[in-house]
Amino acid sequence: MPELPEVETMCRGIAACRGTTITALYRPRCQLKPIQIRPQVSTLKKKLRGARIEAIERVGKRPVLRTDRGTRLVFEPRMTGLLLLADPPDTEHLRLCIELAPADRRRSALNLLFWDRRGLGTVRLLNESAFEAQLGSEKLGPDALQISASQLQERLASSQREVKVALLDQRAVAGIGNLYAAEILLFAHIHPQRRCNQLTKVDWRRIASATRRVLQKAIRYEGSTLADGTYRNALNKKGSYQNHHRVYGRESELCRCCRVGRVQRIVQSQRATFFCPECQPLAS
Ligand SMILES: [Zn+2]
Repeated sequence: MPELPEVETMCRGIAACRGTTITALYRPRCQLKPIQIRPQVSTLKKKLRGARIEAIERVGKRPVLRTDRGTRLVFEPRMTGLLLLADPPDTEHLRLCIELAPADRRRSALNLLFWDRRGLGTVRLLNESAFEAQLGSEKLGPDALQISASQLQERLASSQREVKVALLDQRAVAGIGNLYAAEILLFAHIHPQRRCNQLTKVDWRRIASATRRVLQKAIRYEGSTLADGTYRNALNKKGSYQNHHRVYGRESELCRCCRVGRVQRIVQSQRATFFCPECQPLAS
């Protein structure tokens, strides 16, 4: 958490930052262990003051601000990081403040905040070559919203890994995490423990189309805010796709897809997987 739909929601939520100029940047007073910011804040401030934000991009599961200086400010939300334009859930976990002046003087200044309860998130300023080296196509697969069935098959069909585990590999496909992998495989009617090298062309087609369908719907509902309440959109409001989860977090409940099977929970690579044995038979 957050995965592609939550980060896409963050990026859309801070769209007003596009075209603004960074006037100030600082780490708010915080009693907690500081999050990792590279370069250090004093250098970051020098490199960014006066820079214009040309674009807001989502790169897999991270929001990125592209500046007119050929640099990118990359936020890595990890478990609990949020980008906000509104008051944060609390001030205790506020990690970085960026003040922005709008191009149009009639509009008011913006305060872009990075908030992170667990503090595992990071902020990095990367130039073109560092960005390519760390987050370019060598490191990150095609975006999950765009990937075609043949690309997916090409990248994973020779793997012996279980398909649910493979879908979390960001080098193969970027943006899918534990929650959406479970929902995607339900829609595709593929058992999460099936091996990639045993899936057919039709199976890959079903996975690619379920991926788009699930992620697009989750974006429409502004992502999933789970019981811990951590994930919020840029205005500090909850997402609502959690109300549409069909298997994730619903162990022993009647499957919301077939209304016959009961959702099962298993563990794959130390992560919980939820699936419906009726909708997703192991042998098919
Ligand atoms: Zn079912």
